[in-house]
Amino acid sequence: METAAIHKIGEKCLVCEMNKENGIHLWNQFLCTECEREIINTDPEDEQYQYYLEKLKSISLPTKNVKAKM
Ligand SMILES: [Zn+2]
Repeated sequence: METAAIHKIGEKCLVCEMNKENGIHLWNQFLCTECEREIINTDPEDEQYQYYLEKLKSISLPTKNVKAKM
């Protein structure tokens, strides 16, 4: 099919907002492997961590499940 040429690769990551092939699904959202790693490696006291938390809040997921992944 000719439309295959414009078929987007991967899915849009909710944090970096770029299309990535590798990542995980959090409820109905997609988080790429790079961002997942960034979040895990970010110190909870770091400002960047709060930024990630804000992004993750957009996911309609029970909070305790999100924390369990951290
Ligand atoms: Zn990402």
